[in-house]
Amino acid sequence: MCGIFGVHGHGDAVHLAQLGLYSLQHRGQESVGVVVFDKESGARVVRSMGTISPHMAAELDTLHGQMAIGHTRYSTAGSSTIENAQPVFVRSRGGYIALAHNGNITNAGELRQELEAQGSIFASTMDSEVLVHRLAKSTAATPDGRVSEALQGVEGAYSLIIGFGDTLVAARDPRGWRPLVMGRLNGSVVFASETCALDIVGAKYEREVGAGEIIAVDATGVRSSFPLERKPSTKCVFEYVYFARPDSRVYGGSVDRARRALGRRLAQEHPAPTAELVFSVPDSSNSAALGFAEESALPFEFALIRNHYVGRTFIQPTQKDRDAKVKVKYNAVREVVSGKSVVMVDDSIVRGTTTRGLVALVRAAGAREVHMRVSSPPITGPCYYGIDTPTREELIAANMDHEQIRRHLGVDSLGYLSLDGMLQSVPDGPHGFCHACFSGDYPTPPPTDPDKLRFGCGC
Ligand code: AMP
Repeated sequence: MCGIFGVHGHGDAVHLAQLGLYSLQHRGQESVGVVVFDKESGARVVRSMGTISPHMAAELDTLHGQMAIGHTRYSTAGSSTIENAQPVFVRSRGGYIALAHNGNITNAGELRQELEAQGSIFASTMDSEVLVHRLAKSTAATPDGRVSEALQGVEGAYSLIIGFGDTLVAARDPRGWRPLVMGRLNGSVVFASETCALDIVGAKYEREVGAGEIIAVDATGVRSSFPLERKPSTKCVFEYVYFARPDSRVYGGSVDRARRALGRRLAQEHPAPTAELVFSVPDSSNSAALGFAEESALPFEFALIRNHYVGRTFIQPTQKDRDAKVKVKYNAVREVVSGKSVVMVDDSIVRGTTTRGLVALVRAAGAREVHMRVSSPPITGPCYYGIDTPTREELIAANMDHEQIRRHLGVDSLGYLSLDGMLQSVPDGPHGFCHACFSGDYPTPPPTDPDKLRFGCGC
C-alpha cells in the first residue's frame, strides 16, 4: 500500500508535500519521496528509505517550487530498495514527468514485456514504471490527454498523481479501487490518498476524484474528464477495516464511523455474555472496539499499551522469535486484565502470529477468560490490488478451520464479523466494494503469474 500527495499553485509546495506525507506515513514506511517543480530551476527529487528523516527534511528545506508530488511506500520485503522508491521521476521529450502511484497494476507483467520488446529499458522493478514509459510514448497534445492514452488497457488498481512541467494530473482507475481526494487551499489544488493529509496542510476537502476520472490542474484552471471505459465499482473494503486513518474520510465516508459500525455489528453477531470489559489492539482497532463496547454496554479499557518508539528495524519479517516481536511492541496492563474475563477486539487476523502473541501477553497478565472478536471476516486469499497480504499458505484462515484457529490463538471464544455484516456496516455498503481477500470473489481474473506482482510496487 502507499500514500500519495500532490499540490499545485502554492509558493511553499515542498513543505505542504512534506506535511502531507507525515499524515500518510501509516500507508507506507519503506520509502518516501518528493518531487518539486519550480518554474525557474526545473524539477528536483528527494527520495529516501524509511520514513521522513530529519536529514531528508533538511534537504527539502533547501528546495523551492510551486508544484510538488509526494509518495510513501509500503511494499513486500524483497523489493525494498531505493530504485523502487517513488515518485518515479524521469526526463522525457517535453520535460520532466513525476508519478506517484497507489495500487497494483495487474497486467504490469504483460505491459512491461510489450515495452521491452520495443526496446524500453527499466530502471526499477515497479509496476508503476510501466505507466511512465507509456506516458513518455504518448503523442497526445495535453498532459491529461497523455494520461488518458497511457491508461488505455491498463488493468487493476491505480490512484495516481502525476506532474508534467507545470501541470498536475490526478487519475483514478475506473473501478475506484483505491481512495483519492481533492481539496483546495486558497487558490491551490491539493490531492491526497486520505483527507487527513488535507487537514494537516489546512486544505478544505472538496470531493473525491471520481472512479475513471482524470483531473488536470494548470495555470488556466481545473479540467475534468472521464475518458476510460466504465467498470463496476470495487472500492477496497479493507481501507475502512484497517488501512486508512480513523480521522480520514475515504470513498466519501468517515473511517471512524465505519469502524464503530463494524464493532457494533460484531457485538450483535458475536456477543460475549460473560465478559467484563473490552479492549482494542492499538491503534488500528480502537474505533471498532469502542463500537463493540458501546453495543455491549461494557467498559472500554486500555489493556494493551503500544510502544511508539519501536522502529520497523526491530520488527523485521525475518526475525525468528515472533512472541518476542510482539513483546517489543506491546505490553499488557496487569491492573486492567488480572482476574477478568476480557474481550480483545482486533480489526483483522492475517497470519495469526501477532494475535497469538498478544493473547499470550494478556493471559500472562492474569486475564481469566479471553474472548477474541474480529471486526472483519477471515482473510482467506491474497490481495492483488494493493494491500500487502501474504500468500495463501501463510494466511491462517486459509489453512485452519474455526476451532483450529481458536485453539491456535489460545482464546476461550472466537468471533469473526460476517461478510454481510461487514458490507452492511460500511458507508454506502453493501454494494460496490472489493472483498476478494475475504470472499475469494476477485473482480478481475487473478494475475496469471502472481509472483510477477511481487516484483511490483507492492503498494
Ligand atoms: P496477525 O495476528 O499476525 O495476523 O496480525 C494481525 C494484525 O495485523 C492486526 O492487528 C491487523 O491490524 C494487522 N494487519 C492487517 N493487515 C495488515 C497488513 N496488510 N499489513 C500489516 N499489518 C496488517
